[in-house]
Order: sequence, then structure tokens, then C-alpha cells
Amino acid sequence: MTAKKKSAKLLKCPTCRMPVHTEDEDFPFCSDRCRKIDLGKWASGVYKISSPVLDPEVLEDLGGPGTTRGGSSDES
Ligand SMILES: [Zn+2]
Repeated sequence: MTAKKKSAKLLKCPTCRMPVHTEDEDFPFCSDRCRKIDLGKWASGVYKISSPVLDPEVLEDLGGPGTTRGGSSDES
């Protein structure tokens, strides 16, 4: 006898398909991480690919622009 009340509307996170509340802080994403991932996809044009890109390396790459890489600056 389980009667759930549909008080809060549930949508799915476009990044990881997790259920997200419309009243959530990071709506329509389940978390700030997924939001950044989604923005990163649009920015880099990865959204053309239908397959999801959820590699840890991608997450780190989108984590912050201030991350120091191997010092690969070719600018003279
Ligand atoms: Zn998500």
C-alpha cells in the first residue's frame, strides 16, 4: 500500500539521467558537476556525439581552467 504524493516534479538530469527535483539548487542538473559537464559539452561541441562522455579525465578537465598542465605553453 504505497501511495506516493507527486508534490515535487521530477525530471532527469541531462548529463547522467538521474532524477532531479525542479526545486533543486542545481536544476535541471542533479549537481554542479553535471552542469559544468553539460556546459563543457556545448562549448567544445561534443554534443554532436550521441554517446555519453563521462570519463574521469573529462571531469577533471572541466573542473577548472586554473589547473596547471604539463607546462605546454607554446606562446613565445
Ligand atoms: Zn547529473
